[in-house]
Amino acid sequence: MKLYNTKSRRKEEFVPLSPGKLKLYACGPTVYDYFHIGNARAFLFFDVVRRYFEYLGYEVTYVQNITDIDDKIIDKAMAENKDFHQIAQYYATAFLEDCAALGIAHPTHQPRATEVMPEIIALIKRLVESNHAYEVDHDVYFDTASLAEYGELSGKKIEDQKAGARVAENANKKHPADFTLWKKSKPGEPVWSSPWGEGRPGWHTECVVMSQKYLGETFDIHGGGIDLVFPHHENENAQARALTGKPLARYWMHNGFLNIEGEKMSKSLKNFFTARDILKEYDAEVIRFFFLSKHYRSPIDFNRELIQEAEKALQNFYQALQSVDVLNIPEHKLQDSEILQSEEDFKAAMDDDFNTAKALACLFELSHNIKNPQKSPASKEDSALMLLKLGKVLGFFQNLNVRLRNTMPDLSNQLIELILSYRNEARANKQWAVSDKIRDDLQALGILIKDNPQGSTWERR
Ligand SMILES: [Zn+2]
Repeated sequence: MKLYNTKSRRKEEFVPLSPGKLKLYACGPTVYDYFHIGNARAFLFFDVVRRYFEYLGYEVTYVQNITDIDDKIIDKAMAENKDFHQIAQYYATAFLEDCAALGIAHPTHQPRATEVMPEIIALIKRLVESNHAYEVDHDVYFDTASLAEYGELSGKKIEDQKAGARVAENANKKHPADFTLWKKSKPGEPVWSSPWGEGRPGWHTECVVMSQKYLGETFDIHGGGIDLVFPHHENENAQARALTGKPLARYWMHNGFLNIEGEKMSKSLKNFFTARDILKEYDAEVIRFFFLSKHYRSPIDFNRELIQEAEKALQNFYQALQSVDVLNIPEHKLQDSEILQSEEDFKAAMDDDFNTAKALACLFELSHNIKNPQKSPASKEDSALMLLKLGKVLGFFQNLNVRLRNTMPDLSNQLIELILSYRNEARANKQWAVSDKIRDDLQALGILIKDNPQGSTWERR
């Protein structure tokens, strides 16, 4: 398998640290609001990464954090005159609900920052003791100049970061690139006791602690959105490097941006959608299909037309599965070489840096096989079983029973078309009594037939 590693900026052969095991960490939400559709792309993509490794037989440990202490949470709590804990709890619950609604499987571990506070303080202490961090007036900063490898992930060197480049540059820092590990609390803010006084941790440290706690000093894949490469992931990696001399992860995977109708999503442009908004309009699998139809590293444009295409494509799969009554096919070993080849093609696509667009093409082909009248019934059934198997790897077909039941109206459409074709035959043979009876009987069921010189059309009353 080849993965694009942000660190090396090229595709690399994936070799796990321990054979047959995958240790995966992807940054979760900061719970101060409902998560937006761009975040949903990341959460859905790493859900697929996890599912695919499991399908390959890996024992996967997937850790995703919940950042439940952060400036944004505190700001919101103050604005709404609530306790920060209430805000964090409310949006953490909303996050879990929305992930479940999107069909995202629960990670193996989902720690919250406030649950690992003693470990966070211990880690900062070690950084201070090893001279990779320093305290100024109850704040603790990471000393970027102390680490030769600083910048190894993002390629940004500390010399490039000029003082005053950022808003309200902190005069306490030795270097503008130095980042906060521990922050002295202002009055009214939540506090934890530490060797540096009462305060709270910085975001970059939280993720290091939560990933290493469950995955060890170095793990296989660290993921997140492309906007997290710098400074978040660079700063996570720097802390691990300083502590252990080793990188935090071997492969860094980042998904691309999401635009809305060609524009950057932003609250000021009023084109900001939460996953919750979108789920009111579209089915979760349609959203999943939409994202997977594009390579994860490419930017994606969220427009209604593409979503509708995804909707149609998915409907197509369900109709195909419906047509062979897939739930009632007895389990058996698939042997048809053409069908087995589509599984190989699917794997080849996924092994090529998760080319899900190509993997979906394999699903289309199977769906086409099912609908192809020249195929034998056995071959149609086997194609359906393979479509089901591979679709599940991508996280589709999670509520198959319900979905197939809901696909039924399309079967009734097909039946009407069928009856109409018999009636056309009758008309062609001038069997007027038969054709009139069919028309009247259908009309009694609420189906109106209109005859015109080109043929007959129908509509529901
Ligand atoms: Zn993180």
